[in-house]
Amino acid sequence: MTRESVFDVAIIGAGTMGMAAGAFLAQQNVKTLVIDAFDPPHNHGSHHGDTRLIRHAYGEGRQYVTLVKRAQQLWGDLERESGYKIFEKTGVLGLGPSDSPFLHETIEAAKKYELPLQVLTANEIKEKWPGISIPDNYIGCFEGESGLLYSEKAIQAYKELAIRNGAQLVTNTPVQQVDMNSEDAVKIVTADNIFWAKKVIVTVGAWAAKLLPELKLPIQPVRKVVGWFDTPEGIYDSANFPSFYVDDKDKMFYGFPSLNGSGLKIGRTDGGQEIDPDQQIQNFGQYESDEGDLRHFLKSYMPEANGTLKQGKTCLYTMSSDHDFIIDHHPENNNIIIACGFSGHGFKFGSVMGEVLSQLAVNGHSEFDISIFSLSRFR
Ligand SMILES: Cc1cc2nc3c(=O)[nH]c(=O)nc-3n(C[C@H](O)[C@H](O)[C@H](O)COP(=O)(O)OP(=O)(O)OC[C@H]3O[C@@H](n4cnc5c(N)ncnc54)[C@H](O)[C@@H]3O)c2cc1C
Repeated sequence: MTRESVFDVAIIGAGTMGMAAGAFLAQQNVKTLVIDAFDPPHNHGSHHGDTRLIRHAYGEGRQYVTLVKRAQQLWGDLERESGYKIFEKTGVLGLGPSDSPFLHETIEAAKKYELPLQVLTANEIKEKWPGISIPDNYIGCFEGESGLLYSEKAIQAYKELAIRNGAQLVTNTPVQQVDMNSEDAVKIVTADNIFWAKKVIVTVGAWAAKLLPELKLPIQPVRKVVGWFDTPEGIYDSANFPSFYVDDKDKMFYGFPSLNGSGLKIGRTDGGQEIDPDQQIQNFGQYESDEGDLRHFLKSYMPEANGTLKQGKTCLYTMSSDHDFIIDHHPENNNIIIACGFSGHGFKFGSVMGEVLSQLAVNGHSEFDISIFSLSRFR
């Protein structure tokens, strides 16, 4: 590509965050290039496996609430614009011991932002959802307005929107190098081509530390598994059962009701195997803990769903060292914007991240306070 055809903004990595940013930029008539190593949505990164939780009263920290509220609005906009069903209001039930710090933060976040959150006793929970088994010292935090997002459909919707508004999408093309030595534009190098852009957004998920080695990003890709389990008719169906997470003292699990016979989906938030994303990821079942952990959960909390494993999948988390996101300008080149380290809880923010990243690229700053995600916090 010649120097004349320089893009206003190039996005490297068109997954959850990158594809959304591409759609927001193209909508504003910004000359946008979106480039990905695969053809998103795909099974190689962090966004596959059908569903993601969206919670508003945020146990990871109340500083996320403003962003998640905006994200929810934007998912609604995307649903209307694309015609795809993206959000399912299943409600989200958080369970754990009454002294769980995560649930405590959830309750405080709800109070601070006046979010509708019901706090329930163990008996109330068991009466309302007979498929749940919990000790008497457990409580529940139920958010009726929250639910799940269909992750691949959301990315497909942003992809179509970006293309419709004129973004150029280049797929199956890994970027090998981001060269920022030139003053007026950033050079993007692939095996067969060179692209130029005035601004570059790097949203390569688990590959961020490999593409930008000079930054020594404090992130670690982790292999994670999820499993879908056959359930008895009715009890765990989405019409009767919410999406959920459980603070099991030293472990954290989450899951989704059976959607049109999909089975109950379970995953574990902590744990997993540290990996290099370029290596062959071992399939579900290669480790005893893949299925073992999920069955431990089912046996304790949802015993009637501890039946046949219908399917299992692997996926990648990119954990930052403090589990908060990293969103910032490159310290050596203000024309490069980085968003990574979404630490296993980023999907729900994908829509608002698209907006934030487009604002950073166009205006140099965002209307949202993203200072807690700065790279300088690690120095
Ligand atoms: C099993 C599992 C369950 C999860 N559950 C939840 C949940 O319930 N709620 C929630 O909010 N979040 C959840 N998450 C986290 C969420 O899915 C991630 O935080 C989010 O998808 C990260 O988005 P991303 O854009 O950083 O990565 P991705 O969506 O993986 O996008 C990165 C893209 O960059 C591309 N790429 C990489 N290298 C290059 C290169 N060199 N050149 C060009 N392109 C490149 C990749 O092909 C990919 O398309 C979960 C994650 C997993 C794995």
